[in-house]
Amino acid sequence: MTERGLFSRRGLLAGGAALLAGPAIGTALAQSVAEVDIAIIGGGAAGIAAGLRIAQAGRSHVLLEAGERLGGRARTDTAFGLPVDLGTASFGRAGSGLASAAGAAGLPVSGLPGDRLYVDGHPASESAYDGFSAALGRARRDIVTAADAGRDVAVARVLPPPGPWSALAAARLGPLALGKELDALSTLDLALRDVPPDDATSPLGVGALIEALGAGLNRQTHATVNLITNSGRYHTLSIAGQRTTIRARAIVLAVPAPVIAAGAIRFNPVLPPRLLAAFRAFPAGTLEQVGFLLPGNPLELEPDEGVLASRDGTAPGARLRGRINGSDLHVLTFGGAPARAIAEKGEAAALELARAFLDRAFGGGVGEAVREVVASRWSADPLFRGAMASAMPGQGALRRLFGDPVQNRIFLAGEYTSLTDWGTLAGAFASGEVAAAKALRVVGGPA
Ligand SMILES: Cc1cc2nc3c(=O)[nH]c(=O)nc-3n(C[C@H](O)[C@H](O)[C@H](O)COP(=O)(O)OP(=O)(O)OC[C@H]3O[C@@H](n4cnc5c(N)ncnc54)[C@H](O)[C@@H]3O)c2cc1C
Repeated sequence: MTERGLFSRRGLLAGGAALLAGPAIGTALAQSVAEVDIAIIGGGAAGIAAGLRIAQAGRSHVLLEAGERLGGRARTDTAFGLPVDLGTASFGRAGSGLASAAGAAGLPVSGLPGDRLYVDGHPASESAYDGFSAALGRARRDIVTAADAGRDVAVARVLPPPGPWSALAAARLGPLALGKELDALSTLDLALRDVPPDDATSPLGVGALIEALGAGLNRQTHATVNLITNSGRYHTLSIAGQRTTIRARAIVLAVPAPVIAAGAIRFNPVLPPRLLAAFRAFPAGTLEQVGFLLPGNPLELEPDEGVLASRDGTAPGARLRGRINGSDLHVLTFGGAPARAIAEKGEAAALELARAFLDRAFGGGVGEAVREVVASRWSADPLFRGAMASAMPGQGALRRLFGDPVQNRIFLAGEYTSLTDWGTLAGAFASGEVAAAKALRVVGGPA
C-alpha cells in the first residue's frame, strides 16, 4: 500500500493480480501495465466503501485518488490548533453502513444535539419552534404532492403562500442544505429524498474518520485518472503524468458528478448521450464552511449545537455549528450566493460574511470578536466543482440512470447516485457498497 507514486506490487498481486512488464523502464517508451480485478476511481466515502467491500471479498483492487489524501468532501484540517471539518461535519446514523463500519474499526462516533432557533437576536420561544416546523412540514407536503401528481417543476413554484417562517424554511430546504435556491431544484428529486437527520459526528473530525477507514486499502494518491478505454475483456485506465496504465476487469467510478459532466475524464468509446445529458442535468450546489474562534461562549451554546437564525422574517444566509467538541471553534455553513462569493474570493470574503452574519443573527458586537477565519473553496476546486449534485427542475427522473452499468463493467458510485439518500455522506458510503457488489459479480464474486 502506498500513498504516492506507483502502488505496491504486493498489494496488486494479492488476490491473483499480475503486474505486467512493458518495454524496459528508462527508455523513451518506458511503460508498464498493472492488472487488477477492480479499480476504484475517487477516494471519498463512496470509493473507500467500495474498496473495503472488495478487499473483504479477497479481490485485488487499487483505489486511485487524484488529491493528496483520501476523504474527498469529508476533510478534516487543523486550524487554530484544533481539528476542523471543512467538508461535511456530520452524518445520519440511522441504519447507516458508515456508522457500522466506523464502529467495527473502533473509530469514535458521537451524538449531535438538534438545532436551536434564534429570532431577532434572541433564543426563540416554543411557539417559534412550532411555527418553523409547521412551515417546513407544509413545504415538504406541497413538494411531495406536486411530484405525486407528476409535476416535476421548480420547488419554488409549488410552495405555500409566504408566511412568517417561509423564508427560513426555504433556506433550510434549499441554500443551507443543498447550496441552491428553490427555483433551481426539482420537485421530483426533492420528493424522493428521504434522509435521516444528521445526528452523528466524530471527535476526530468526520474527514479524519473517513480517511482512517480507507487506511488499509491498496491506494495511490496524486493519481488523476484522465482516460478510460474499453479494451474488450477489460478496461484500461490512464493516469495523468504516469507511464503505468491499469487494466481492470471492472471499475467503480466514484468521482463527483460535475467532474464527469465537465469532461475531466475522457471515455473511449464516449459515454452514452443519455447518460451524459443526465450528468449535465445535475449541477452541484455551492456550500462553503467558515471556521473561526469565538472565545467565552457569548451565544451560550452547548458543545456542537447547531443554530438557525431568523431576523425580521428573513434568513441571514448561514447555519452555525458552535463550540465544536466543546472548544471555542465555531463553523458557519454558507449556501448559495454567499458561498459562491467565498469560493471565488477566499478567506477575505469569508471573514466579512462571517462577521456580517453574526451581527445580523445575534446582534451587533458578536461579529467583531472574529479576528481570523479558515474557509473551504469546494466549488473552485476542479476535483469537486461544488457541494452536492441535484436535478434541475424537470430532470428529476434522470437520477435513476446513474444506477445503470456503463459499458457493462463501469459502476457509478457517489452521493449523486443514491435515489433517496443523495447529497449525504452516509448515502455516498452506501452507494460505494452497492457499486462494489455489482463489480464483484462481474469478476465472479469473492475470491
Ligand atoms: C461544505 C459541505 C457540507 C456538507 N454537509 C453535509 C452534511 O452535513 N451531511 C451530509 O451527510 N453530507 C454533507 N455534505 C455532502 C458529503 O460531504 C458528500 O455527499 C460526500 O462526502 C460525497 O462523497 P463521495 O465519495 O460521493 O465524493 P467525494 O467525497 O467528493 O470523493 C470523490 C473523490 O474523487 C476524487 N477525484 C476527482 N476526480 C478524480 C480523477 N479524475 N481521478 C481520481 N480521483 C478523482 C476527488 O479528489 C475526491 O476525493 C457536505 C458537503 C460539503 C461540500
